[in-house]
Amino acid sequence: MKAIVAVKRVVDPNMKIRLKADGSGIELTGTKMAMNPFDEIALEEAIRQKEAGKVSEIVAVTIGSASASETLRHALAMGADRAIHLVAETSPEPLAVARLLAEVIRREEGRLALLGKQAIDDDTNATGQMLAATLGWPQATFASRLAIEGDIARVTREIDGGLESWELPLPLVVTADLRLNEPRYASLPNIMKAKKKPLESIDAASLGVDLTPRLERLSLAEPAGRKAGVKVGSVDELAAHIRTLARA
Ligand code: AMP
Repeated sequence: MKAIVAVKRVVDPNMKIRLKADGSGIELTGTKMAMNPFDEIALEEAIRQKEAGKVSEIVAVTIGSASASETLRHALAMGADRAIHLVAETSPEPLAVARLLAEVIRREEGRLALLGKQAIDDDTNATGQMLAATLGWPQATFASRLAIEGDIARVTREIDGGLESWELPLPLVVTADLRLNEPRYASLPNIMKAKKKPLESIDAASLGVDLTPRLERLSLAEPAGRKAGVKVGSVDELAAHIRTLARA
């Protein structure tokens, strides 16, 4: 069974995000980029399923500018077998991403689509669900456990206040939550080997998907800075302070 894993290049989660001077977006010039953390988890899961003999081949797919190929090299170094780069000047909106991924999945005859539950740049949390709808496949979102037996997947999902267990038929879309696994580091020998693994580039516009943006970002603003705290000398002083705040 072929697994297709969608990996997005985003601002490194350890970096402090800066806004462009005109507030139109996030400043990416000179900013360190990395694979979306939830996508690393999705990829790690595909690798573990391959190690367990449930998956035969892992194809990592990204949609983005020329530099997004770095993310694919990282995916290959982690353990993906092949990579497909759908080249688009900017990363398209979730609906277009879902339709592009669906095109690749049909072409590759993939039966397991693994995505992150959300990309930490736009925090949309929509692509996996839109992909399942586009393909007409069942979906298991926010997965914290995945077990495959033949044509059946047993998935545990993280929900408010607990866990939910599902049994779903393959082919299937799964989106990874934080507790699904802990992604491995790419070792130096694997980084070297990844340079020789196949990475195919395709013009995203050639796949017949409408990439025109449908959403308009009106503005983007930094969150309000935190006010300095107050040091109190005793519990009584703390209670008095809370009372004053409550009255205000
Ligand atoms: P989102 O719906 O934007 O929060 O993204 C959910 C998931 O969809 C991500 O974790 C990725 O697995 C996938 N995804 C979104 N955008 C892209 C992209 N440009 N290239 C590859 N995968 C993507």
